[in-house]
Amino acid sequence: MPEQETIFHKIAAGDAEADIVYKDELVIAFKDTNPQAPVHILLIPRSDELESLNDASKSDETLLGHLLFAAAKVANQVGIAEDGYRVVINTGGSSGQTVPYLHVHLLGGRDLTWPPG
Ligand code: AMP
Repeated sequence: MPEQETIFHKIAAGDAEADIVYKDELVIAFKDTNPQAPVHILLIPRSDELESLNDASKSDETLLGHLLFAAAKVANQVGIAEDGYRVVINTGGSSGQTVPYLHVHLLGGRDLTWPPG
């Protein structure tokens, strides 16, 4: 059992509603409920082993690569690939991570500023 069951555990298990835009054998992508850009999608592993990038080990390399590959695929699917987009993985308290379940933010649909706040 995970230390803390989050809403993303429930979405991954199919026990909570989400506006799913993409799914494959390793990841699920769904719309963020508090979007920070016209397109704001989260990608999560379907397995619940990782609370954050900090917990990743060598055996997670395939999953991590797959998450990024899927993010690019979804960016293309939703039509933001040509204009450009940002992929973010908040990791730990100072980053602003609020849900302790590894997730990738895919943001696009507007000009994004840099550096982030
Ligand atoms: P982070 O701050 O990096 O941990 O990101 C967590 C993200 O999850 C935030 O952008 C929230 O708006 C989003 N979020 C929280 N609950 C849900 C939910 N049930 N469905 C979709 N997105 C959610």
